[in-house]
Amino acid sequence: MTDFTYALDADGVAVITWDVPGKSMNVMSMEGFAELDGHVDRALADPAVKGVVLTSGKADFAGGMDLNVIAAMRDRGGAQGIFDGVMRMHGVLRKIERAGMDPKTLKGGKPIAAALPGTALGIGLELPLACHRIFAADNPKAKIGLPEILVGIFPGGGGTTRLVRKLGPMVAAPFLLEGKLSDPKAAKAAGLIDEVAGDPLAAAKAWVLAATDADLVKPWDRKDYKMPGGAPYHPAGFMTFVGASAMVNGKTQGVYPAVRALLSAVYEGALVPFDTALRIEARWFTNVLMNPSSGAMIRSLFINKEALEKGANRPKVLDQTVRKLGVLGAGMMGAGIAHVAAMAGIEVVLIDATQAAADKGKAHSAALLEKAISRRKSTPEKKAEVLDRILATTDYAALSGVDLVIEAVFEDMAVKAEVTKRAEAVLPSDAIFATNTSTLPISDLARASARPAQFIGIHFFSPVEKMLLVEIIRGHDTGDLAVAKALDFVRQIRKTPIVVNDARFFYANRCIIPYINEGIRMVAEGVAPALVENAARLVGMPLGPLQLVDETSLDLGVKIARATRVAMGAAYPDSAVDDALFWMVDQGRAGKKANAGFYAYDAAGKREGLWPGLGAQYPQATTQPVVTEVQRRLLMAQVLEAVRALEDGVLTDIREGDVGAVLGWGFAPWSGGPFGWLDILGAARAVAICDDLTVRFGPRFEAPALLRDIAAAGDSFYGRFGGGARQAA
Ligand code: NAD
Repeated sequence: MTDFTYALDADGVAVITWDVPGKSMNVMSMEGFAELDGHVDRALADPAVKGVVLTSGKADFAGGMDLNVIAAMRDRGGAQGIFDGVMRMHGVLRKIERAGMDPKTLKGGKPIAAALPGTALGIGLELPLACHRIFAADNPKAKIGLPEILVGIFPGGGGTTRLVRKLGPMVAAPFLLEGKLSDPKAAKAAGLIDEVAGDPLAAAKAWVLAATDADLVKPWDRKDYKMPGGAPYHPAGFMTFVGASAMVNGKTQGVYPAVRALLSAVYEGALVPFDTALRIEARWFTNVLMNPSSGAMIRSLFINKEALEKGANRPKVLDQTVRKLGVLGAGMMGAGIAHVAAMAGIEVVLIDATQAAADKGKAHSAALLEKAISRRKSTPEKKAEVLDRILATTDYAALSGVDLVIEAVFEDMAVKAEVTKRAEAVLPSDAIFATNTSTLPISDLARASARPAQFIGIHFFSPVEKMLLVEIIRGHDTGDLAVAKALDFVRQIRKTPIVVNDARFFYANRCIIPYINEGIRMVAEGVAPALVENAARLVGMPLGPLQLVDETSLDLGVKIARATRVAMGAAYPDSAVDDALFWMVDQGRAGKKANAGFYAYDAAGKREGLWPGLGAQYPQATTQPVVTEVQRRLLMAQVLEAVRALEDGVLTDIREGDVGAVLGWGFAPWSGGPFGWLDILGAARAVAICDDLTVRFGPRFEAPALLRDIAAAGDSFYGRFGGGARQAA
């Protein structure tokens, strides 16, 4: 395998081209690094070489480090193995940066420039940052940045140390702490790269041939180097570092080990010379890789997310790409679905009961595009193009050429049955019909269909244009073609799919509802609402249960509770929750949309704080539980439901359970998901916690048999089910 090729041009510029065979995007492996090292040695040693340009043979420069390699590095070599590997990488990058110059006089080095044709992420930017000048093509689609933090690690290939020294900690912060990506022009404006050029390779070569000794010396290798914005003991730098620490902890609640390690690497690195700072960066990077959270995050947010997007569980049938989509119901969800489909280049027929309602749905798309234009994320031409793809109508005959229909009409069995029949009357015989229901069983709805094998659930989350997950539900009679169609559609609109079997509330809502209920139940017991909310946030939930139910609305909660009570009869476990929930709705506090819920809101709808009236109805107990107990109740309520979903066969793949939980409702992302959380905790410990909670709070916390079995066997969820789709039962 050759990832890098070497060619010496007649003008004396050696061009090292990165082009990993068999992949559409370059990714770095340890073998790749060794190859690059060899080419750099050769160029530096050859007197005929005046300078070097590093570029890519693909449309993009690189997508980053192969995260599978990082995961393997940890599993194989432990901490010392990771540290040694990272230091070897630093050695190569530092060799490029010093380029053979005399360390005292800083003279005699060979210029090395990077020419980026497109996207350059992670190590794909860290490598250019070690070069002497970075040229990027004028390619507005290219993304440049260091997104490592988003998968639970941080830039550990010198990117942290170099960017902070190049830009100063304040300016570097959004790129390091938030993984902010920029197009080439914005990257140049921010100082990430040096030049945007029509032909970056030619521009880089010209620069290399004209470069002087002084052009090769990085500011931090000069004696008079001062960190932009000030190092930690400079008065201005002091303010930055103290402020950053408080701000970051306020935002993340301290649950992400990578964020803390990054801050430490930056702070400690800023106090010492550059080469020592690289060692410190390598130590913190090793520390993060050894933390189970980083492994769990990489697994769910990168490896498994990508596997699901590439169709890990797609039935092996012919391509089912959607050419024309029908959407029934142009309300909140239907309008959103029409928009994302049209954005993906799919023709859409958007139907509602009246022309005004259909037009209103299309106007939603126009408003979103208008907003994007004002933020310079779209253009009037693009807006016209997208809107042109949406036909808003009341006429079902317009569905005659569609190959997939998604209905998003009222949550009512009879209404849904009626539109199913009307649509099927005009649909081509091989078209697939999908429902976006959130609570009605797919197999029941399929009874209205003349072809239940072509009937499926495609469950979006609100707001459709923002939420990354789509839950696909196989009904009792759903066939493979329908599943493939749904998966291919989700791929087209660039979201992440999970495929689950049909059961009450499918997967996501099945886990979310007990979380909300546990929160409300605690309030009814006299636990301080602020303790409930803060405990949730401190364990990494994006919203506390009370804020979450305010957002989704309490009257929806009442509707669901009523329906569940009817369905479950005497076995219904949530009467205590309903007392509080129903009382709130009786007080007119239906949540955010009513400007009144568990929280108080001002006239403009801004959340002000927990509603004081709650205390009069549910006085706070004099003795409050410790925060970990509240957290255990809130997390176990969700996690046990995920385990039961696996036991019941609703989930068939724990990867889907974890990815779905993090993307669908923001389940403590640092843990990688409910199964990742259980594996970090250890099954035996989880069972002990369940036993304790069961005694004190009731049978809803009883450990499922599967969890007990895994604990007894000394096993883990990923140890047993990690390889992919496998039925638990
Ligand atoms: P909505 O009330 O905003 O929209 C429903 C639309 O359907 C309305 O525009 C209505 O005029 C139209 N409609 C009703 N009967 C019709 C008919 N016979 N023919 C054509 N159009 C008809 O509701 P929504 O929030 O968009 O929810 C729609 C569906 O999506 C429901 O099944 C709901 O359970 C599901 N869902 C909602 C959410 C959410 O957060 N709101 C999330 C996931 C799924």
